[in-house]
Amino acid sequence: MTMPILSFEPATDGAKGFLSQPRKKLLIDGAWVDAAGGATFDTHDPANGRHLAELAAASNEDVDAAVAAARRAFESDAWRGLTPSARGRLLWRIADLIDAHVDELAELETLDQGKSLRTGRFGEIPASAEQFRYFAGFATKILGTTIPTSIGYQPAGKKIFAYTTREPIGVVAAITPWNSPMLMAAMKLAPALAAGCTVVLKPAEETSLTALRLGELMIEAGLPAGVVNILTGLGETVGAALTAHPDVDKVAFTGSTEVGKLIVGAARGNLKKLTLELGGKSPAIVMPDADMTLAVPGIARGIFANGGQVCVAGSRVYAHRAVYDELIDGLANEAGKLRLGHGLDPQTDLGPLVNRKQADRVASYVSEGAANGAEIVAGGVQTGEQQTFFEPTVITSVRQDMRMMQEEIFGPVVAVTPFDDVDEAITFANDSLYGLAGSVWTQDLSAAHRLASRIRSGTVWINCHSYFSPELPKGGHKQSGWGYENGAPGLDNYLEMKTVCAVI
Ligand code: NAD
Repeated sequence: MTMPILSFEPATDGAKGFLSQPRKKLLIDGAWVDAAGGATFDTHDPANGRHLAELAAASNEDVDAAVAAARRAFESDAWRGLTPSARGRLLWRIADLIDAHVDELAELETLDQGKSLRTGRFGEIPASAEQFRYFAGFATKILGTTIPTSIGYQPAGKKIFAYTTREPIGVVAAITPWNSPMLMAAMKLAPALAAGCTVVLKPAEETSLTALRLGELMIEAGLPAGVVNILTGLGETVGAALTAHPDVDKVAFTGSTEVGKLIVGAARGNLKKLTLELGGKSPAIVMPDADMTLAVPGIARGIFANGGQVCVAGSRVYAHRAVYDELIDGLANEAGKLRLGHGLDPQTDLGPLVNRKQADRVASYVSEGAANGAEIVAGGVQTGEQQTFFEPTVITSVRQDMRMMQEEIFGPVVAVTPFDDVDEAITFANDSLYGLAGSVWTQDLSAAHRLASRIRSGTVWINCHSYFSPELPKGGHKQSGWGYENGAPGLDNYLEMKTVCAVI
């Protein structure tokens, strides 16, 4: 199946203006500069292959310069001397600027990543602003405690006065993936800045445009030079250099489990603090009493949104045999309703995957599954002139040991398996090296909470899937990661505790 040529232009002056300067630079110490050595790479619209911009490919020299700028800013009065309230107001201004540019940012995200305009315009870009607002409030609430002690001090008569303070960790390397570029950057920048850290941000090479535009907005908001530096470039060079750099204090990484393990190795030189938000293979369990009017569209959204390029995508569904057929028919029907097209086309529900390589990867899981007996009930076709689209796909007759049931596909592909009793469903759900998220669909509240306690994952949703808000901690159990983002634990990642103990 071939789709028509997909050519759509952005409508906002902001996006047009940003793209009219197709040579993009690095942000180091408050200035936009070419990569030392002048290397560049290109970014394209995945729907039609159109060239969007030429990006600077940072070198080791640029990594050193950006880390040094972040260190200077960390020690500077311009940043450390800001009151907590001033820091909070700065974050709030960044949020307001994101909102003021929401249409432009959504268009840039769609052109660069492929997602439907609706997903960015009404979901991820406003949610990015909310990240900054939520953490802005924390800037004035970073507290220590006073602590009475039990061990006596000689000479007798002296007393101990002890307290804790919480201090920013230092220079943070923030490394983000390509699926939700702006939101992933905001989830790291907002708590890091609220805590008083400085940052070197490395966006994914596939989707760097909104990070660069955000850099411009942060300067407009009044962020002092060097507090946020942005290095575009490849993971194996820029990312690897940052994670091994002796003057980086912490790495905040979102991406694949495979690269997460490389980062653990690279960070050991100076024992950097790490938060790792990694891959997932999230199960959805559908009980016999589930409200199918909620379950069918909710599970469909949980896997097909953003073309399945979502870390928590509900890619494995375990349905009680009593509702199995109804669920499959419902999901196939939902898949059939979704319109594929250019993300900027208002009719589009599903844009392309991020690039041809990712679409080929998704196709290889589906064809291997089919060759091993899986049945494709809906979709299963790679399409588009660039072969970057993949139809929303529903698969049955799968076995737990199939690669498509164990590995993260990161595409719009859901496999549905029947179960007869709840213990079997839990065993299936937990049969994964990942533990990022899961959902439970039932009208029995007690059963829902009992099931939630038995699923080994960082998040469990009841009668919904993929709901996020900055107040809710989010992280992975098992090989889905270390640490949490969002909520109060999300701030803790960027703070160290100091105990001060005085004889008085
Ligand atoms: P990826 O791991 O390939 O790349 C992520 C980032 O790491 C990119 O910026 C890349 O350039 C960089 N990188 C690559 N090699 C590196 C290295 N050796 N050292 C340092 N950095 C390196 O991931 P991706 O393909 O961009 O994104 C998809 C993955 O991200 C999926 O596995 C998905 O589940 C995961 N993800 C997880 C979450 C979460 O919150 N847990 C959220 C979104 C995406």
